Order: sequence, then structure tokens, then C-alpha cells
Amino acid sequence: MEKEPHDLVLNVCHELMEKFLKRSIQRPINLIRTNWASEPYVYGSYSYQSTHGKHSDVDILAAPLPNEKVPRLMFAGEATSKHYFSTVHGAMMSGWREADRLAQLYTSHD
Ligand SMILES: Cc1cc2nc3c(=O)[nH]c(=O)nc-3n(C[C@H](O)[C@H](O)[C@H](O)COP(=O)(O)OP(=O)(O)OC[C@H]3O[C@@H](n4cnc5c(N)ncnc54)[C@H](O)[C@@H]3O)c2cc1C
Repeated sequence: MEKEPHDLVLNVCHELMEKFLKRSIQRPINLIRTNWASEPYVYGSYSYQSTHGKHSDVDILAAPLPNEKVPRLMFAGEATSKHYFSTVHGAMMSGWREADRLAQLYTSHD
């Protein structure tokens, strides 16, 4: 897809939107798309766990800073999901995890 001409992709997106909306809509005036598959530092992409790694490596990535008791900087995203890394649901659940962490922090200070 990244290698296809801009106008072709825009036209196909337009067609698909009309198909799913079941009505004609104005052709979008522009299209912004990513080029992650062609990006030499990324090539894709999503995280994976090394065969040399351990599940505990993910805990380190997911750990808030400076520490669990005083979280000032928290991390979500598929790479912080121990069991569902590389997936959308892993990313989503990691967001819920961090939201729960915040909620617990606030309720424990009532
Ligand atoms: C080709 C492909 C197909 C996939 N298919 C599936 C599938 O079928 N099912 C499935 O469950 N998962 C699939 N995935 C994986 C899924 O897309 C990812 O796991 C998920 O999007 C990760 O979400 P995230 O929020 O963790 O990260 P991302 O969606 O990558 O979000 C990270 C965001 O941070 C931004 N960012 C990065 N650096 C900075 C910076 N320095 N400052 C500010 N912003 C920054 C990025 O631009 C990006 O918007 C696929 C992934 C790819 C690449």
C-alpha cells in the first residue's frame, strides 16, 4: 500500500467509505498515511519478545517511574502487555491497566 500512488489510495479509500456508508460522499481533499513499513528504523512494526527475553522484561517496561508507590510517569502500549504484546487488544488493555493504577492512587488518598 505504501508503494502505491497517493491518488490511487485516496480513490480506493473513497470507494470503501461510500461502500460502507451506502451513499455517495464528497471525495476527500487529502490523505495522510504513514510509511512505517518503509521506515528503515521501524520496518513495520510492533514489539516482540526475544527468545532470550523473559516475561519479567515486560514488567520492567511497564513499570511506572519513579516507582509504583509514587507513579509520575506511566507506560502503556502493546509492548508493555505481558500476554498480548503485538496486538491492539494488548495496547488497549495496557491503557486500562494504567487507568486503574491512577484510579487506585486517587481512591487510596481519599
Ligand atoms: C501491519 C500491521 C498489522 C497489524 N495487524 C494487527 C491485527 O490484525 N490485530 C492486532 O490486534 N494487532 C495488529 N497489529 C498491531 C497493532 O497495530 C499494534 O499492536 C497496536 O497498534 C499498538 O498500539 P500502541 O498504542 O501500543 O502503539 P501505536 O499504535 O504504535 O501508537 C504509538 C504512537 O506513538 C507515536 N509516537 C512514537 N514516538 C513518538 C514520539 N517520540 N513522540 C510522540 N509520539 C510518538 C506514534 O506515532 C504512534 O501514533 C498490526 C500492526 C501492524 C504494523
